Amino acid sequence: MAHTLGNLFILAAPSGAGKSSLIKALLQKHAETGPHNNVMQVSVSHTTRAPRPGEVDGVHYHFVDRDAFQALIKQEAFFEWAEVFGNYYGTSKIVIEQTLKQGIDVFLDIDWQGARQVKAQIPDTATIFVAPPSKTELLRRLTERGQDSPDVIDKRMTQAVDEISHYHEFDYVVVNDDFAAALAELDAIVTSRRLRKEKQIMRYDQLFKDLLSE
Ligand code: GDP
Ligand code: ADP
Ligand code: 5GP
Repeated sequence: MAHTLGNLFILAAPSGAGKSSLIKALLQKHAETGPHNNVMQVSVSHTTRAPRPGEVDGVHYHFVDRDAFQALIKQEAFFEWAEVFGNYYGTSKIVIEQTLKQGIDVFLDIDWQGARQVKAQIPDTATIFVAPPSKTELLRRLTERGQDSPDVIDKRMTQAVDEISHYHEFDYVVVNDDFAAALAELDAIVTSRRLRKEKQIMRYDQLFKDLLSE
């Protein structure tokens, strides 16, 4: 993909570490305080898993059946896809490309397999691993969230160790102990990515022309 003003971010973490909450809070913060050239969006994945209570099709995920998902794979509609906890999850190619081109930052909430695929295609992607402060706290959050049955929680706890074993493949690591602190750290990563010369050249093209004119 050609250079775009928008930045691509990947947040990966074991389920329950707080990725969704952090992204949601970051988006809210920027919607309230950010200047309009600093917009960000979270990518809505496709999944074959059943919606949880309160999840809305097209908002949290595009919920599709396995046949529809297979068809999208065949059409090469996905930027990346992976099987997680026995369900398919994938990120649509076209939406990401168009959003980045518009100068909008995009967050992907995807697993380590997806992160690897995206990083290989777009090395410029900032990959962030979110870790829980302890195993006990991870189990507590999964249980307290009240969204998954005990056997699904068991599966997710086992999978957590697998996900965490890949943390060193990421560019940044945030430990989500105190929520506000983790949010501030995430925000700092976003800000520093935005300030990179390559992006500022695009953003301030006219300014530098003016400053350098005789
Ligand atoms: P929702 O399911 O769309 O409401 O959002 P989330 O799954 O992101 O969060 C579930 C609830 O937990 C929301 O009411 C959040 O405000 C709340 N929440 C998120 N992070 C924290 C935290 O660090 N501490 C506490 N106490 N609540 C939190
Ligand atoms: P993920 O998207 O990684 O699966 P969630 O964002 O759904 O995780 O968070 C899992 C649960 O933990 C939610 O109920 C959320 O409110 C809670 N949570 C997230 N971050 C913290 C934190 N720093 N301290 C306490 N609870 C948290
Ligand atoms: P959940 O069912 O809790 O929403 O998500 C389960 C796991 O699937 C999480 O680790 C999440 O990051 C991952 N996931 C969600 N969407 C995608 C996606 O589009 N691609 C990939 N590779 N993983 C995803």
